Amino acid sequence: MQPLPADKLPEVGVEKLRLIDSHCHLGAAVFDNDRQEVIARAHQSGIEQIVVIGAGQGIDGNYTALQLAEQQRGLHAAIGIHPHDADQWNEETRAKLFEMARTNSVVGYGEVGLDFHYNHSAVKNQRRAFSEQCEIAAQLKLPLIIHTRNAHKETLQVLQHYQKHIQEIGALLHCFSEGPGELQAYLELGMHVSFAGIVTFANATAVHQALQQVPASRLLLETDAPFLTPKPRRGFRNEPACLVWTAAAAAQLRSEDVTKICAETYANSVRFFQLPLP
Ligand SMILES: [Zn+2]
Ligand SMILES: [Zn+2]
Repeated sequence: MQPLPADKLPEVGVEKLRLIDSHCHLGAAVFDNDRQEVIARAHQSGIEQIVVIGAGQGIDGNYTALQLAEQQRGLHAAIGIHPHDADQWNEETRAKLFEMARTNSVVGYGEVGLDFHYNHSAVKNQRRAFSEQCEIAAQLKLPLIIHTRNAHKETLQVLQHYQKHIQEIGALLHCFSEGPGELQAYLELGMHVSFAGIVTFANATAVHQALQQVPASRLLLETDAPFLTPKPRRGFRNEPACLVWTAAAAAQLRSEDVTKICAETYANSVRFFQLPLP
């Protein structure tokens, strides 16, 4: 994945936007060569805070996320074992995650869930890792970050057992990629929903319709970087600064002013993850 050249970044308007990237894999190896520049560009584009997702590179990615969050203002960590890595879920990883969760920089648990599209891990291991990690999040009183792909019904069934946790602490369906029908079920459970660069894709009509139906108080925005680079920079590596394009597309789809959607999603992220106000 090729990094974005500096002249291809979003232009910062007169009215500077303030945003939170609620889901970014900033610890991924593709950022090893220029992570500090990426963070600096994020700040220049108004991305004031970033939730760094430790899940996605086994247990080790969680240590990287934690380290980043402890070293830098505006960065926070979410820890967990991704459904892709569910084959690695065992007593030892559980103990390590419990230990990590004691630090103040951990603001969420995830991403956890089910991915029956790729099936990088065995289905039975995905089920076990998901349920057991929902249990851990409930014990630790951490908001859940949920990943689901080709597994809507079963994800929902598992989450229904955690309705009390969802209502008291919270759960976020990240990178929403389904339609209005699926959306309603998550909203009824009391969940928050986060949208990524998919909203900038012209052919994503179901996602567009869902975005139009999310109540303003439940909406968050994310990059899911380095993946899902928004239009007009598909093909390049995604990074937090690109969240500006997603915010602009979301505002247009909801017929709202971009500053309004930024303020709303900022406040929602702060409340959901209990982030400090800068
Ligand atoms: Zn995901
Ligand atoms: Zn992710």
